[in-house]
Amino acid sequence: MLGKLRPVGSRVPRPDSSSALSLSWDDHYRTEFTGSGTEALSIAVAIAISLKPEVREPEVIIPAYGCPDLVSAILAQGGKPVLVDLLPDSPFMNDAQVRDIITPETVALIGVDFLGISERMDVLSKICRDSNLFLIEDSAQRFPPVSSDKPLADLVVMSFGRGKPINLMGGGALLIRKEVAEGSLAILDSYPLSVLVTGLPWMLKRFVFNLLMARLPFYILEKVPFLGIGETRFRKLKAISRLELPAELLSSGIRCFGERPLIHKLYDRELQSIETFGWKLLGTRESENAGGDPDTPRLRYAILAPDNELRDQALRSLNRSGIGASAFYNKTLPHIEGVEEILKEEPFPGAEDFASRLLTLPCHEDVRASDITLMANIIRELGICR
Ligand SMILES: *Cc1c(COP(=O)(O)O)cnc(C)c1O
Repeated sequence: MLGKLRPVGSRVPRPDSSSALSLSWDDHYRTEFTGSGTEALSIAVAIAISLKPEVREPEVIIPAYGCPDLVSAILAQGGKPVLVDLLPDSPFMNDAQVRDIITPETVALIGVDFLGISERMDVLSKICRDSNLFLIEDSAQRFPPVSSDKPLADLVVMSFGRGKPINLMGGGALLIRKEVAEGSLAILDSYPLSVLVTGLPWMLKRFVFNLLMARLPFYILEKVPFLGIGETRFRKLKAISRLELPAELLSSGIRCFGERPLIHKLYDRELQSIETFGWKLLGTRESENAGGDPDTPRLRYAILAPDNELRDQALRSLNRSGIGASAFYNKTLPHIEGVEEILKEEPFPGAEDFASRLLTLPCHEDVRASDITLMANIIRELGICR
């Protein structure tokens, strides 16, 4: 059958005034909406910087494998991104290395919930408390944030862009812990406010967007080179704004998210056997003791191949069979085009190995059990052929 299962992305919800907006983090955080997740992250960095006015060249620690938007968000505030390696075979930051690279100039640490797998906020928050740093949870790839259960992060970032857990075709949110909210008002107020209107043009855009997610349109769209679908690009952050986001849109997005099937559990079951061939499933409770709520839909399902060659073979076979499998960022941050001039080249063996072996599989609402069986068969076959 002609068509392709898109790698990521859920349908844009219809604003629905019947569902009241209730935010699980409201007791601990003040919520401020922004133009995008990157903008929210940049404001978070600005707040962290403002609370240490004595620091001349503020440094922000981020993982060496990750979204280049982290770099843009920090640079936009005149900060310096400082990279830290990942633990072996894991999306988690190497916490011993985090402690080592903290300097008097460090103002914040950004922990990222990778593809919906919660980062170890308890470990990171202990480091931050010991060294008087701000902990920022980047929950752009996870909903709800880890901190909505346990308010460990000082600031939390969410994204409502395409390919994020709640897709509103744009927008983001910054959650500010109530203790620091008052002191952040001046910074927040310095950014202009724009309004998201869900009128007819928005509804039309939503209609087209959702239509294009089906297998046949995606298959065709992916072949259009100038669209650059699936590419990781470094972009400078040019403008930052706050956003007036209609409550009925977000509440409907949260409701739809809650109704989504827990596809990752199917994967956990179907792919378990490939671990005997040296593959590793990420985010399973046994392998990582990830903490957080295991029953939260994942953004993509992440596995590590035994080596780079098998990863690339699996990528090719899966894509040939109509599955939008992806290597995701594919490179560590210092090797992404545009970032390499900014960050100095240092070895990050954990992150480099991770980047060379990571394979992500679709985890959205259109993945069928038969797709997962097909993927499992393809990967198992590669394992056995060896
Ligand atoms: C997508 C993403 C961002 C940026 O969000 P946008 O809304 O696209 O600006 C930040 N951090 C992570 C981890 C992301 O995946």
